Amino acid sequence: MGALTAARQDPKGEVYALLPEPNAEACHEVLRQYGADRIVVIQTPEADLSPFPEGQAAVLAAAIDRFQLDALLGASGEAGRDLLARIASIIGAPLILDCLDIDFPSGTVRKSHFSGKTTATLRLNSRPWILGLRPNIITEQIDPRPGDIVVYEIPLHVSKRLVIREVKQGSSGGPDVSEAEIVISGGRAVGSAENFRILKECASVLGAAVGASRAAVDAGFASHALQIGQTGKTVSPRLYIACGISGSVQHFAGMKTAKVIVAVNNDPDAPIFQKCDYGLLGDLFEVVPALTRALGPGRSK
Ligand SMILES: Cc1cc2nc3c(=O)[nH]c(=O)nc-3n(C[C@H](O)[C@H](O)[C@H](O)COP(=O)(O)OP(=O)(O)OC[C@H]3O[C@@H](n4cnc5c(N)ncnc54)[C@H](O)[C@@H]3O)c2cc1C
Repeated sequence: MGALTAARQDPKGEVYALLPEPNAEACHEVLRQYGADRIVVIQTPEADLSPFPEGQAAVLAAAIDRFQLDALLGASGEAGRDLLARIASIIGAPLILDCLDIDFPSGTVRKSHFSGKTTATLRLNSRPWILGLRPNIITEQIDPRPGDIVVYEIPLHVSKRLVIREVKQGSSGGPDVSEAEIVISGGRAVGSAENFRILKECASVLGAAVGASRAAVDAGFASHALQIGQTGKTVSPRLYIACGISGSVQHFAGMKTAKVIVAVNNDPDAPIFQKCDYGLLGDLFEVVPALTRALGPGRSK
């Protein structure tokens, strides 16, 4: 919904929500609440386009042309990066991923560069723009609009050169770390893969994803898919809880746009205490289970 809120910041723009999934009526009301002037329900001879990335990209590219859209905004998570790049390549449009914000009147977009060390402001000189927003970077706002339904039928025969047969959930079992609204991460101090269990338990009561520092990944406590930082993933959750992480610049590069940062560390001089919103001075092996007990189903009143 952050993409709708971002699109609403265009003072002149009419906001369309493109739905390549025809049976998604459940989404319509939410799209109206978050600011869709029109909801374009795309219908093709193929009942379900989700296994066919080339087909999804082709119909969205056709919709941009059909409705003469000036910009397409999506989330630059794992799936969005793939889809937006395909659409940009079909229509030969400029593509910017991992955007932090968009200024429609000046036609500029901000994005972080060099692992978050600098922020670039890029001017887009041709339309349409294809923009991928960093997940969770825009705080979504309710802004009800009519959300009139427009059915767009495309007699497109979908290419099946590339077919997604199965999407396997990661070993954490929770939400994807780069798109999660809450992330709880462990560092070297967690000490073992087995000990990461206490973070997973806490994540499950918070509805959070588990992340890790590079030191924890290099030591084999967590998979590289969970690594956050310069050589790992960039995350922008509403809440980031760093447990037993010192706060190196390389780790910070991957999570500094989190809205609220909480650090749990037993060293009062740990650098992360200079960079967090809330610091808990203590042993993670006491603090994290206490948090899980306090927030879990059997929490004390
Ligand atoms: C080119 C390059 C790229 C890099 N990319 C990344 C990257 O993508 N991501 C990344 O994270 N790092 C990256 N690094 C590594 C980075 O410099 C740090 O070495 C790493 O982030 C440290 O991980 P850590 O904080 O888990 O470990 P440490 O620095 O060892 O910190 C452990 C912390 O745990 C605390 N602690 C110890 N015991 C407890 C306890 N029981 N309870 C609470 N706290 C405790 C300690 O006080 C300490 O602050 C990169 C380095 C380089 C050179």
